[in-house]
Amino acid sequence: MANFKTHITASTLLGAGYGVAGYYWGEFPVPSCILAGGLCSISGMLPDLDSGPGVPLRESVAFAAAVIPMMLVPRFESVGMPGEMIILAGAAVYLLVRFGLAELLKRYTVHRGMFHSLPAAIIFGQLAFLLSPGDDLNVRLFKAGAVVLGYVSHLLLDELYSLEWYKGRLRLKTSFGSAIKLLGGSMWANLSTFGKLAVLTWVCIREPNWVADYQQRIAQRQSRPAAEKTKTENASSDAENPEQLWWEEMARMWLQEWMVR
Ligand SMILES: [Zn+2]
Repeated sequence: MANFKTHITASTLLGAGYGVAGYYWGEFPVPSCILAGGLCSISGMLPDLDSGPGVPLRESVAFAAAVIPMMLVPRFESVGMPGEMIILAGAAVYLLVRFGLAELLKRYTVHRGMFHSLPAAIIFGQLAFLLSPGDDLNVRLFKAGAVVLGYVSHLLLDELYSLEWYKGRLRLKTSFGSAIKLLGGSMWANLSTFGKLAVLTWVCIREPNWVADYQQRIAQRQSRPAAEKTKTENASSDAENPEQLWWEEMARMWLQEWMVR
């Protein structure tokens, strides 16, 4: 099995190449290319989060807890979340990652279980897609691709290290096939992985619509003449408070989303 240093070196080199390629051929902005390169580099160590309690897990979780809320701030802003609520939501996400996610990883992962699999690579790509700020779909897909690439580079290296020279012949270690796989040995882990994959796929497809829909509603509502507002909502004529607006529109949007189904 390849060690931490080998993994991070490989994924960092790949990330640098991916960023440069994105700049030249994809014509993505420089910051997006650097960020994508960095994401690819970090993703090279993600599969080994299943190695149980220890320095890699602790450090990665602490890093994720700090960075994920920061990545989410522009997303919260894009759906018009009021300032104080962004702070509260950021703090909630921090606690969720720092304690919730850490506990889940410690308890429910088995080394070389479903964390070392192709569906897991796609799941992490989808999470990156959902976390990426901005309305430019291509940039978000570019960053998600970086995560999948870094993740798969780890799986590939693990598989390469399961080949060894023994008495002049190439032979396979028992770990062969335990990194790049679609299904693992545990039925429950397989179900849970493919369940997550299905839910995230649905969310990723619908999400750009949700944001656009919400922004459109807010724009419509704000452009409505004041007289009509008082007539239809029997609300007081003073300016709408942003918090109320946010909750109302969010609730309406979700109700509709579920009624359609
Ligand atoms: Zn590994």
